[in-house]
Amino acid sequence: MNAMTNESISRAKLIDGKAVSAFVREQIKKEAADFKAKTGRAPGLAVIRVGDDKASGIYVRNKMRACDEVGFDSRTVWLPADCGMDEVLRNIEALGDDPSVDGLLVQLPLPCGCDERAAVLAVPQGKDVDAFHSLDAGRLRLAPGRILPCTPSGIMAMLDYYGIDPSGKECVVVDRSDIVGRPMAAMLLAADATVTVAHSRTRDLGAVTRRADILVSAAGRAGLITADMVKPGAVVIDVGMNRNAEGKLCGDVDFEEVSKVASYITPVPGGVGPMTVTMLLRNTMNAAEEAIAKAK
Ligand code: NAP
Repeated sequence: MNAMTNESISRAKLIDGKAVSAFVREQIKKEAADFKAKTGRAPGLAVIRVGDDKASGIYVRNKMRACDEVGFDSRTVWLPADCGMDEVLRNIEALGDDPSVDGLLVQLPLPCGCDERAAVLAVPQGKDVDAFHSLDAGRLRLAPGRILPCTPSGIMAMLDYYGIDPSGKECVVVDRSDIVGRPMAAMLLAADATVTVAHSRTRDLGAVTRRADILVSAAGRAGLITADMVKPGAVVIDVGMNRNAEGKLCGDVDFEEVSKVASYITPVPGGVGPMTVTMLLRNTMNAAEEAIAKAK
């Protein structure tokens, strides 16, 4: 299916992250059941949480709930905010050595005084299901494996589900962070797109975004992407998670107005968000299978 046309389309089709997420989770559930039948144990995800950050608490609970849904074992190690970096590293090492743990992540941000980079780098290769390690970043550019950064791989899965092929398309990514923008650009490039990465120093952002057949915005700025910045018929993926003046969750994109110009658009909430946790489950499943294959 070709998503783009040169003509203006009256109302964009919604890219339903919840539906794609349910589809992918159903597949993972089956794979987890097969894995348990073969090995006698379920795939396992462990999360280290440090301190009382409220948002982190919600994210960790969502991850644990998602694990239950697909039949994974999950555990959270919750350390006090003042536990010290040595204690964080000791726990990473212990879970890294535990054969029942296939995926391991440290929930960020860590309280001040903790070295986030050191924590990320301490997660052993093969269990780094957030794919935040520098080696994962390098691998993504050289020889992508089966464990990929969750948010961009979730976006690729959504595009695939809706039959939107980036090959040969102009893609613009607004964000150059290590978590979203850079891996997103690498994945789109690997899918044969022509990719431009924009950021806060980009001159005339609208002139850049108007070139995009596929526009991904992850700036974290409510209302940044307005209808006049979008090419008619473009696919618009909104990664931003912001609060508007009324305190309501919203993305970077002016959803109402851009819906009148784009061919496809993701809502916030219910677009990219649900896919991120789903791809964490996908990575954990893949890590479990790779661990078993390696042990043979
Ligand atoms: P980040 O590290 O703060 O990066 C934001 C990027 O946007 C930077 O590259 C920044 O440019 C650029 N930017 C900021 N303002 C801009 C502007 N006015 N024009 C053009 N570029 C601008 O944030 P992040 O971790 O990548 O996250 C970005 C957003 O995505 C946040 O809202 C976050 O909550 C959301 N997010 C959502 C999910 C999900 O699952 N839905 C997952 C991850 C992140 P510079 O580099 O020049 O500063």
